[in-house]
Amino acid sequence: DGLVRRANGGTMPEVSAEDAGWRERITPGRFDGRTAIVTGAASGIGRATASRIAREGGRVVAVDISAERLAELAAQLPDSDVVTVVADLTDPGHLQRILDAAGPRIDGLANVAGISDDFSPIHEVSDEVWQRVFAINVDGLFRLTRAVVPVMLAAGRGSIVNVASEAALRGSAAGVAYTASKHAVVGITRSTAFMYGPQGIRVNAVAPGGVATGITSAGSTSEFGGGRIRDFLALIPPIAAAEHLAASITFLLSDDGVNVSGAILPSDGAWSVQ
Ligand code: NAD
Repeated sequence: DGLVRRANGGTMPEVSAEDAGWRERITPGRFDGRTAIVTGAASGIGRATASRIAREGGRVVAVDISAERLAELAAQLPDSDVVTVVADLTDPGHLQRILDAAGPRIDGLANVAGISDDFSPIHEVSDEVWQRVFAINVDGLFRLTRAVVPVMLAAGRGSIVNVASEAALRGSAAGVAYTASKHAVVGITRSTAFMYGPQGIRVNAVAPGGVATGITSAGSTSEFGGGRIRDFLALIPPIAAAEHLAASITFLLSDDGVNVSGAILPSDGAWSVQ
């Protein structure tokens, strides 16, 4: 019926990638001969990003903790070069299987995997929520990036895109744990862009606003979804589709972003300027 049940318990018009007349315009061959690692590739923004890179000719190393949903991604792209890697980014012991799947050449890294917090303010946030959100959103991203950069340095080129959030730009888009974790992602992005610019590695971040994905759906797939997130989504429902974010991420990841590094790109339908 064109309505979708959201985490706020109500229904609202489904967010469609074709809203406002937008059409995904594949750039054939944009990622030809390129290998890109995409984390969080089993769902939402990561899945749309992995799919777009594959359909634009790239070899995708699709990383996620969910074997079942990774298999769905692979099934959606039967004629593409997609290698799936089941890995938990909080486990340093799983890093090697990602590097092994990628092989000697890594042109792109899209750090998309992340979880929401429970929207707690600081006097109510538990150690469990704080540590788990940082373990995935910050530590996982940091360790994989640290492992991939030497491969890019050896090649003298590379492009990294980190998914931050509106919560990296303001204090009112999530709880304190998620907000702090996404501010850390911005810090990692800027430092890494500065450090490796001379060696040909570009590093940028995309800051999504509300996107209709696993995190924001009813029965949120994010560990700490539900609770206060419902009240928030009732006020500020998602307005973007995962494909819209994939368009922003692949712009920065591909050679189209050739002169852009150290940028934090809001991809949020103007939320950050309100
Ligand atoms: P999603 O839940 O649909 O996808 C996140 C994916 O990350 C899932 O497939 C999940 O299995 C994976 N993941 C979680 N923990 C992992 C781990 N330990 N190891 C490996 N994979 C793991 O959500 P999404 O909205 O597509 O989120 C993608 C990114 O976008 C996240 O970093 C999120 O913080 C960010 N973001 C989302 C929104 C939004 O409104 N949806 C807004 C701002 C930022």
